[in-house]
Formats: sequence, C-alpha cells, structure tokens
Amino acid sequence: MKLQAYGQNAHEANSQAQEYINKLEDLISTTKNDSEIYKLNQSKEFPIEVSKECSVLLKYALNMSEISDGAFNPALYPITKMWGFTQDNYKIPSAGEIKEKITNCHTAEWASIKIEDNKITLLPGMQLDLGGIGKGYAGDQIIEIYKAYGIKSALIDLGGNIQLLGKKNNGSEWTIGIKNPFGQGTIGQIKASDQAIISSGGYERYFISEDGKKYIHIIDGQNGYPVDNEIEAVTVVGKSGAYCDALSTALFVMGLDKAIDLWKKQKDFDFIIVTKDKTVNITSSLSKRFTLNGDLAFQVKTIK
Ligand code: AMP
Ligand code: MG
Repeated sequence: MKLQAYGQNAHEANSQAQEYINKLEDLISTTKNDSEIYKLNQSKEFPIEVSKECSVLLKYALNMSEISDGAFNPALYPITKMWGFTQDNYKIPSAGEIKEKITNCHTAEWASIKIEDNKITLLPGMQLDLGGIGKGYAGDQIIEIYKAYGIKSALIDLGGNIQLLGKKNNGSEWTIGIKNPFGQGTIGQIKASDQAIISSGGYERYFISEDGKKYIHIIDGQNGYPVDNEIEAVTVVGKSGAYCDALSTALFVMGLDKAIDLWKKQKDFDFIIVTKDKTVNITSSLSKRFTLNGDLAFQVKTIK
C-alpha cells in the first residue's frame, strides 16, 4: 500500500487515510474474528445488524452483482475458503464438496441477500467475501478524505488498484504502467488523471497443481471453480474505485465477449483485457491514452 498526497495537509490526510483503511479492514475482514463480516459469516440466525458503512458497501456489492448478471458474486467465501485462497493453504476440493457448497452461494443466489436498515439476512450456508470490491471502495473513501483536507493531487496504490486525484503535482498527467501478466515489468502505460485504474489478474494469487494446472483466486460462481477462460488479466478504468474494482473481477469471470457487451451497455468505463493469446484488447477511447511497450510480442486490438 502506498499513499502519495501533495499539499499542505498531506501528512495529516495520510494518517487519516491510514486510520480509515484499518477501520474498514476491521469491519470487513473475513479472517479477523471480531469483524462484522466474520460475525455474519459465522451466524446461524438472521438478521444481524451491522454498521452503516458495512451495509452501504454490501448494498453496492449487490448492485454490482446485478449489473454484471451475477458474475460479481460477494457471497463466495465458502468456495474461496475451500480452495485455500483465504489462508494460502491451497488444495483442490472434490467435485462433491464443490457441488455441496456452491448450491448455497451460486451466482443465482446473490439476490436473496436481504439488507433492511443495516440489518443483513443471508441464506443458510452463505458467507460473504468483499475481497473483490473492498480495496476500490477504500480508495474512493480515501479520495474523499483527501478532498476534505484540500488536497488536489494524490496517487493511491493499494496493490493492483491505482486511484488518482487530480493531476501530478507539476500539472502533467500521471503515467500508470499496466503489469505484464506473463512476466516481469509492464506491457505498456496509460496517461490519466482523476481516475481509478484497477487490475485483476491470475498472476495475483494462484497455485499450480501437481499436474501443472494453474488455479487462480477468481471464482466462477456458476460452478465453484477458479475461472479458466481466455483471459489472463483485466484492467478497468473509470471514475469510481468500487465500481472498477468489482468490474475488474466481474469482467474476468464473464469472459471477453460478455465484457464487451457490458461495456457497450454501461458506457461508463474502459478496459484493457489481456488474453492468453497475448492480445491486448482495449476500448477505443482508452486506446488513445495507451502506449504499448515496443519490445513485447503483444498485439493490440481496439474494441469499438
Ligand atoms: P480482485 O483481485 O479484485 O479481482 O478480487 C479477487 C478477490 O475477490 C478474491 O480474492 C476473492 O476474495 C473475491 N472473489 C473471487 N471470485 C469472485 C467473484 N466471482 N465475485 C466477487 N468476488 C470474488
Ligand atoms: Mg476487483
């Protein structure tokens, strides 16, 4: 995590931001046993009352499930846990185990989560995991903290999530590198200001089984297995961190064709989707701000 803010109150704003991140982590961590999400996930009786903040974030997450037709599924904790992604103790569950768990948190079930006056009701066997949206949401709140402190230029780097407030201190746009999902370094860079640039990749967290198959931390809620499609990495660019964060995960799950359809429908984000055949699929307006590193064997395809 790296917070870079410029202005008179930068120091104070950064400690406030740091404090906020710790507070949010204490609310939504799946592993801290006094977090609100932990309590929800352990409970057998509902509804459970949570803080306003937790309920707002969960509502936002469910809205992203709706927009993405369930590809973004914040209720997959039983599955991520079973595969060992939550504690880095990876294993391949049996088909039976997966089938048993996925019925309670299947893509079609997110709509059954109820939120009324900060009171949450989950289906039996359902457990929440806001890992696909939490960092982006945190970034949005930090931007608000910065604004309240009068800061006009800042870069927030929450590991794969970049959020920009204004331009660089010297008035020029920021240059943000896009990670090469196949190896070291970047595939290229984009020029941006006042934007969220959020990436999801199989390279972030994965394990390789004895027979050499790679299993990544992004789960397909239709079947309970790590996503295994043509996509290697997704970057979503737009105004809101929470929106782009959830979308980066969702586009990965839905695959390139549906991602293009959603882009055409929503019209309020851009993407770079790197596919396994080393094509950099990039939406048209973003392509004007993107420069590919010349020495790599990637081809660029502009999506119109
Ligand atoms: P990201 O790196 O933003 O794509 O988020 C990945 C994290 O989101 C994972 O580590 C899980 O905690 C969670 N996750 C995995 N699959 C999904 C999914 N289909 N929808 C929502 N969150 C997911
Ligand atoms: Mg995400």
